[in-house]
Amino acid sequence: MAFLKSSLRLSKCLFKNFKAPLSGSAFSALLLGSAIFAEPILANSAAQNIKVALFTDVKSVYLLHGKDTISVTCNGDRLLLNDGKKKHKTPSLSLKPNKNLSASANKKFANRYQGDIHVTAKQGKISVINTVDIEDYLRGVVPYEIGKLDADRFEALKVQAVAARTYAYKQLGSRANMGFDVYADTRDQVYNGTTGATELTDKAIKETAHEIVVFNGEPIEAYYHSTCAGHTASLAVWNRNPLAYLSPIPDIDENGKAYCSVSSYMQWERKFDAKKLPKLIEANQKAANVKKPKQFNKILNIVVEGTFDGDRISVLSILTDKGSITARGDKVRWLFSEGGKILPSASFTVKRKGGEWILTGKGFGHGIGMCQMGARERAKAGQSYKEILEHYYHGAKVEKR
Ligand SMILES: [Zn+2]
Repeated sequence: MAFLKSSLRLSKCLFKNFKAPLSGSAFSALLLGSAIFAEPILANSAAQNIKVALFTDVKSVYLLHGKDTISVTCNGDRLLLNDGKKKHKTPSLSLKPNKNLSASANKKFANRYQGDIHVTAKQGKISVINTVDIEDYLRGVVPYEIGKLDADRFEALKVQAVAARTYAYKQLGSRANMGFDVYADTRDQVYNGTTGATELTDKAIKETAHEIVVFNGEPIEAYYHSTCAGHTASLAVWNRNPLAYLSPIPDIDENGKAYCSVSSYMQWERKFDAKKLPKLIEANQKAANVKKPKQFNKILNIVVEGTFDGDRISVLSILTDKGSITARGDKVRWLFSEGGKILPSASFTVKRKGGEWILTGKGFGHGIGMCQMGARERAKAGQSYKEILEHYYHGAKVEKR
């Protein structure tokens, strides 16, 4: 209903602004076609929509609707649309479902979207929100969050479908003041529209349709990560109070081998030039949430003061010529961020060799909840998706909603 109202508002406003005939312009299809009066999609009575932020606070974006490409910039709270022939101003723009519906920052249109797309401007910045049925949203999440697995690991695709669906349900309404539920990237779950969906990923979503993981009747916080390296983490790594179903547990088979040991991140190494590291740490201190030290020139030592389960660092001290810096929990990964890449995990040891600091670690991700590489190998070993989910989220149950 809200969608319909905003569409009607848009149509009035756009018509008022038009000075030239519309024919031959991309907007003619948008305004005179059914686009403006699109009905919300209700594929079935159980449909539950989610609002996904494809872009937030960008200066410009390109939209593809059918064959029409529209560039969108803005001035204050108004969008400036340009289809190459005509320019128009409007406070918002809604596009109805179309098999070629896409939004892109670079005109490449690699990702196609189901559902509808709503574009708004606020104080010189543009947001693009895709409203889509959660079951369709998952088609753009599952292939990117666990990879395109073959049939012998099919149960792991079902594990990912249920975990991603549960995560999505939990996020519904959580950012109402921002106008969407989830980001389309690693801040929530990677979502790239339908382009990457395969027969197998779609089958996994269908076979688990509307199933989520619940604890005490509520959807759980279904966190997951790539590689736990043999032991999952508790919420303490984020300085949060514990949740029973997210208690840390071993992820090892009957031979004592980590299920995720096939991961290329089972072991990793990062090297840092000792002369450059002070500047890097200064640049990262805000992201790593550490107290700003006085300007320092030298790092004298880096010491792991304490650890959580799975050898994840609880306290890391960096002794400098001007005092020490203390980083805590998973945030230590941000302290060593280089070229936009944080450390794979917070489980590492540190040594100095010549002109370099060498960090040797294990695992990839925060370590909380389901271990995706472990789930893949458990699936291959014959465990069902329910067994796998109820192992990582112990005490929780898979239920249909
Ligand atoms: Zn694992």
